[in-house]
Amino acid sequence: MPILTRRSFLKLMATGTAAALWQGNKAVPAMASPQSYRLKDTKVAPSLCIYCGVGCGLLAYSKDGKIVNVEGDPDNPNNEGGLCPKGASLAELYSSPRRLKKILYRAPYSDTWEEKEWSWAIPEIAKRIKATRDKSFTKTHNGVTVNRTEKLAQLGGASHDTDENYLLMKFAKSLGIVNLEHQARICHSSTVGSLAPSFGRGAMTNSIPDVANADVILICGGNPAENHPGVSRFINRARDKGAIVISVDPRYTKSSVLADLYAPIRPGTDVVFFNAIANYIMKNKKYFEPAVVNYTNASYILKDDFAFKEGYFSGWDETKNQYDFKSWDYQIDASGAPLRDKTLQNPQCVFQHMIRFYSRYTPEMVEKTTGMKQDIFLKISEVIASTGVPDKAATLLYAMGLTQHTHGVQNIRAFAIVQLLLGNLGIPGGGINAMRGESNVQGSTDNGLLYDALTGYLPAPTEQKHATLEDYLKNVKKPNSFMENAPNFAVSLLKAWWGDKAQPENNFCYEYLPKYSRPHSFMDIFDDMYAGGIEGMMLWGMNPVVSGPNYNKQGAALEKLDWLMAADLFESETHRFWKRPGVDPKTIKTEVFLLPAAGMMEKDGSATNTSRWLQIRYKSVEPIADSKEDSVMIHLLVEELKRLYAEDANAVFPDPIRDLTWGYGGEHHDTERVFREMNGWTVGDKKQLSGFAQLKGDGSTASGNWIYCGMYPPEGNLARRRIPEKSGIGIHAQWAWAWPMNRRILYNRAGCDLAGKPFSDKKELIHWDSLQNKWTGMDVPDFIANRAPSAPLGDAPFLMIPYGLGRLFVPTGMVCDGPIPEHYESYESPVHNTFSKVQSNPVAITFNSVFDKKSEVDDDNFPYVGTTYRLCEHYQSGNITRKIKVTTEAAPEAFVEIDPDLAKEKGIKNGEFVELSSIRGTLKVKAFVTPRLQPYTIDGKKVHVVGMPWNYGFIGIDPLADGNLVQIANMLTPAVGDPNTRIPEYKSFKVNVRRI
Ligand code: SF4
Repeated sequence: MPILTRRSFLKLMATGTAAALWQGNKAVPAMASPQSYRLKDTKVAPSLCIYCGVGCGLLAYSKDGKIVNVEGDPDNPNNEGGLCPKGASLAELYSSPRRLKKILYRAPYSDTWEEKEWSWAIPEIAKRIKATRDKSFTKTHNGVTVNRTEKLAQLGGASHDTDENYLLMKFAKSLGIVNLEHQARICHSSTVGSLAPSFGRGAMTNSIPDVANADVILICGGNPAENHPGVSRFINRARDKGAIVISVDPRYTKSSVLADLYAPIRPGTDVVFFNAIANYIMKNKKYFEPAVVNYTNASYILKDDFAFKEGYFSGWDETKNQYDFKSWDYQIDASGAPLRDKTLQNPQCVFQHMIRFYSRYTPEMVEKTTGMKQDIFLKISEVIASTGVPDKAATLLYAMGLTQHTHGVQNIRAFAIVQLLLGNLGIPGGGINAMRGESNVQGSTDNGLLYDALTGYLPAPTEQKHATLEDYLKNVKKPNSFMENAPNFAVSLLKAWWGDKAQPENNFCYEYLPKYSRPHSFMDIFDDMYAGGIEGMMLWGMNPVVSGPNYNKQGAALEKLDWLMAADLFESETHRFWKRPGVDPKTIKTEVFLLPAAGMMEKDGSATNTSRWLQIRYKSVEPIADSKEDSVMIHLLVEELKRLYAEDANAVFPDPIRDLTWGYGGEHHDTERVFREMNGWTVGDKKQLSGFAQLKGDGSTASGNWIYCGMYPPEGNLARRRIPEKSGIGIHAQWAWAWPMNRRILYNRAGCDLAGKPFSDKKELIHWDSLQNKWTGMDVPDFIANRAPSAPLGDAPFLMIPYGLGRLFVPTGMVCDGPIPEHYESYESPVHNTFSKVQSNPVAITFNSVFDKKSEVDDDNFPYVGTTYRLCEHYQSGNITRKIKVTTEAAPEAFVEIDPDLAKEKGIKNGEFVELSSIRGTLKVKAFVTPRLQPYTIDGKKVHVVGMPWNYGFIGIDPLADGNLVQIANMLTPAVGDPNTRIPEYKSFKVNVRRI
């Protein structure tokens, strides 16, 4: 008789529960076995890790209402049963004595918390929201109906479930909040800002399991072995099959250990490295010609007055410090289509411009600027360029090392161009893989928790461009692309939010949406707050005192608030900003309401991982003590606000709140109802829709988030599927559901030739079936299914872009600091720009408060490059993992990494406290002298780089004791940002270090 091992039991259990889960069943009894005595009489429920964006599956075991064990889910294709140290420690989270159990309230000028009840807190918070909103509400501005409040702010959401994000977005927009941001702004906004103009969508193109299909893996600007450990499994699998792994990083990291080739690079110089690879590819004719000619805009003819000179593109206006984008455009024919020269010989075509522009990016300049030796650079270029053939693919794995710069968008653009040149889009093992840092930062971005977005990446209306619905629809409609249908998506969204009230006669309640007129990004919010412009803020699972740039400014800004509401698992540095080291609580007016949140295993829910897969988690136990699910808190606030507005005859514009559809089954909402609304239905008979092609702009359909349309067709919630692929290349088409329309590898039409035949059988995903007259294959075609290759636009794979070609050159200022990437130094740098006299990004975002100081290039008080990063043991600002013994004991305190050469010069010994300072603040932190860092020689000058993890705060080293030592790396970083996305520059700034 076969022995049922613990693993085979789990496999059996998971297979057996697949059908049950489809029915929406919750926890199922676990079977006791001699090998699992401690699991005797437990119940097990599939869940998801709450940490990084890999989306590892968990099995949560509970007994007597408590989590007793957490293991990796062997069926989940993202982790196949494995977990990293953070994920493996999750059971302890639920028993941590530091969990918030009661509502805490801090009265103005008080130095202590008071415990409160929900029956008191919700009405009090709702009253403050209403009072702040009503007294600051702007109905019209410059003659435009704007219906907004600029005195309320809402931050956070990346730790929430996807269905909760949707509710949070509805809640905020109905109140007229324009100060609306979440973690994505400060982590991956550069990804959306670069990939969307390059390919059409701002998301990761392939998937985590697909990394195993790569022939070359470039890890640059990320450290997956520490920060996204689940990816290592697939990197190793690719290596086992012969892939070459390259690590390019200022430090020799744990990911560098996985690599065949390692090259150090000075922080902030990635554009030089990537551009030089592109130059190598073009110069040596290593590009994949069929893709470059047919699937990119290389052949488009640019306007005669487009130029680049001495560090500026044409249109630079020195008096306004901005570009006029008129010359950054194509010449067009009578129909409005761009003129092309498919020979690529016309001197005005994009390709010829690129050859001239990129010729400055030589191996010599790479060494002179980045510090990378020419021979290793050439070796890396050769390996990457070797994939410009049909049966090979390279991929890029990156994270904050590329995004968090004043030129973050251009960093990623630069490699997007490399991939377009090599034809590495739309094929297994290719693409650009953005590794998202929070478990649901993808879902929160998809649901538009950003000041400039609605759901599904529809833009939020602005006062200047979208005064009326007609203006808005005209603006979002992009002829000759799939976004020709955008009006259908926008009207369906309004129908989902305001139901029967949204009718053609009242423009589907378009006026209920707030319109913004200036940036309200994360840094703008704190700048406004410091200037006294924001009165009240709601903070959901975010710790900006640790995670925001310029700690001293963040803390001072919070002191200007009248009230702050926060929901979280643990008390964080932000919640207790009023008693942070060095301040007197009795001088701080801000009221604080701290609400205890339920953990992920304490509720049903969902998360969209970095691969765009919407996965479902199931509740294991009840929330501890007085904690509640975030969705319950949102529901209670919405209900209370609806009541307050109904009762108040003098309320200011109550309509959007009063009319907001909110039927999810009461306080403990039914996630299925939220998913059904996100997906959408026909208004007449509430029949679920099968995909966004069915959406209409006449009010006959409703859909809360068009990119999720297709997730919940009439046959049920496809995200609940749990059927991993048994053989094959790891598409996993029946595991969960991926947006859009379950397409796993985006732009897969680009993997086929003009006739619809795959360029390589080895890399086949889809093909044109002329007998069936449709595209078909192992993946869902990311194309119009019946659009033949010979049909108009049948040869244009990037269907979200007008005329469907990938953009080597981005026109009309869609990327506002350059249509092609140019190197500029970081805002603070100890060396002069070797490429031009324009030192740093001329259109970078800066602020002018007393905290916004800058160390200029020749200021020797701060001679070194500072950079920040994360540790495997800690999650983001550390507010969870610093409260868990196992992760805290493994990585108990902050440190600064210093190269041995610098340590010797300064007389610093390993383990000694040193003073680490920038012009914005000073930290006392232990030195870690390590050869992982080495000095660079830049244009003849020796440059040292020092690095510090940003996972630490000022709550003690011992997770059970409070401390007074501030270990916040962002004490040092400047509040400056990329001009496209306003992401802060955390990765390169000037510092000094000295022995104490
Ligand atoms: S932190 Fe990331 S890699 Fe680690 S278990 Fe969680 S999801 Fe997986």
